[in-house]
Amino acid sequence: MTQTANTAPTDFTGFGLDARLQRAIEESGYTTPTPIQAQAIPVVLSGHDVMGSAQTGTGKTASFVLPLLQKILPLASASTSPARHPVRALVLCPTRELAVQVADNAQKYAKHTPIRTAVVFGGMDIKPQAAILRTGVELIIATPGRLLDHLEQGNISLNQVGYLVLDEADRMLDMGFLPDLQRIMNVLPKQRQTLLFSATFSPEIRKLAESYQNHPVTIETAQRNATSTNITQTVYSVADKAVKRSALVQLIQEQNVEQAMIFVNTKVEARELTRFLQRARINAQTIHGDQTQAERLATLALFKDNSVPILVATDVAARGLDIPAMPCVINFDLPYNAEDYVHRIGRTGRAGAQGRALSIVTPYDDKLLAAIAKLTKTEFTSIAIVPQAAAFTPRTERSERAAPRSDRADKPFERRYKAPDNHSHTNRRVSTEDPEVTRLRRKISLSNDPFFNKPYQPSTHVAVKTSEQAHEAPLRKAKVAALCTPKTKA
Ligand code: AMP
Repeated sequence: MTQTANTAPTDFTGFGLDARLQRAIEESGYTTPTPIQAQAIPVVLSGHDVMGSAQTGTGKTASFVLPLLQKILPLASASTSPARHPVRALVLCPTRELAVQVADNAQKYAKHTPIRTAVVFGGMDIKPQAAILRTGVELIIATPGRLLDHLEQGNISLNQVGYLVLDEADRMLDMGFLPDLQRIMNVLPKQRQTLLFSATFSPEIRKLAESYQNHPVTIETAQRNATSTNITQTVYSVADKAVKRSALVQLIQEQNVEQAMIFVNTKVEARELTRFLQRARINAQTIHGDQTQAERLATLALFKDNSVPILVATDVAARGLDIPAMPCVINFDLPYNAEDYVHRIGRTGRAGAQGRALSIVTPYDDKLLAAIAKLTKTEFTSIAIVPQAAAFTPRTERSERAAPRSDRADKPFERRYKAPDNHSHTNRRVSTEDPEVTRLRRKISLSNDPFFNKPYQPSTHVAVKTSEQAHEAPLRKAKVAALCTPKTKA
């Protein structure tokens, strides 16, 4: 069964949601349902299973959380007894970041109701999570592995779950969660409503749906694998891998990139590129799978409030992250899997905002770019850039490449990147971390609130720098532009 948009309500009052949910929607500033919300909310309310495909950043979370809250509201209790708060709905997510984000939204929508929500994910001490679960929680958002740990420890019972959501199911399969999903599914009541959301409907996803869903209604609000029309995609080509980092610095400056997530393919590259950017006086941090959960959450919080405007990420961060108004995504490396390109650039241009996706390619990337073009049905024309490598290359990389230190091209670099009086060139590499970053890291790692459940307050000044900040910027854009020689390939 495939749903059409013809009869979908055009405002939130048309869904007949409880006044407490309606109030939370208004407070969230939503006036018009997004296409996935307009189509999915009535179907979920009517009790059908759903197999939904929606473009990233289209309001998918509210499309399942709002109707689920509506359904469990009549069962909600104001009692303090844990027994009166059994788990009624379970949302499974592939990554900790997505789980935290879904939980933030769920908490926001449920805040005027007695429904209790919690999020559990790995990489954090299990005990505080167990303590919260034992108090009774109606809606749980979890990553599969940690949920199984809680089940094994007897911290939770899932025998009253009436609603299950598999969010980003394709990613869960990619990440090898199928055995964990099967184990969880085995302890859930057979009588339940199951909603499955996936960016793609691969044969594996269809098999999963056949195994665990009951005649689901298929809802497709966007062409599969399509990239958002709000995103301007530009490809820059460089002749050689060795100058990619310099080209990146050039692009950041020349294209006025105020905030961006930069994707690389390996953790090693994430670390090294971050160090390179920091040495070029670009305020960057990295987020990847090897960091502790506290580190990742701290970095994400700093990026979200724009204290750190550049985030270098591996694909582990590509899915699910919602940074409202994030203006730009940069593919420093093209992903090996073309579908990851769609997910990466889906971090920008969310909820109707405009976004930019810049990719840096070398001749070795031709096959990857062709696969992306085919998947997204996009024709790419690359713009060749010839970075003034020496001018943008910090001292360490120049010495790694054994460039002669007396090279005349070094001189403008030395002048333009001259450290402030209280820093010598020798201490440039000692500590690159902003004291505010250190403070936040300490605060979060010592926090007694591992669930990180304070709703995120988006920054209202994301893309705007004050004149004072602009004055402090180490590189003036006009000067940088003079160092760049972009050329357009026919
Ligand atoms: P999601 O795709 O669920 O990650 O949502 C992407 C962003 O859209 C989030 O910041 C939501 O708060 C926001 N959002 C969700 N629904 C609406 C809506 N109807 N109107 C405006 N923004 C929305």
